[in-house]
Amino acid sequence: MAKCEICSKDMMFGRHISITRSQVSRRAKRNWKVNVRRVKIVDAKGVTRYAYVCASCLKSGSVTRAVKAPKTAVAEAAAV
Ligand SMILES: [Zn+2]
Repeated sequence: MAKCEICSKDMMFGRHISITRSQVSRRAKRNWKVNVRRVKIVDAKGVTRYAYVCASCLKSGSVTRAVKAPKTAVAEAAAV
């Protein structure tokens, strides 16, 4: 689940190194999960769907968010 659908960024693996008195006292395996969000997007085919997108893809604007029509536009449509 922790995978971006846009850039296919996945979980990263590594070690946590604990340093005591300038010596490495303990090494522990750890992993870093991707900061993914489930957002409504408009894909290349123009289809609106939900997708798991990482925060960096959202920030860079490489996805088109499917946003609701603003309230003012809805009110204008109702008035006409
Ligand atoms: Zn991404």
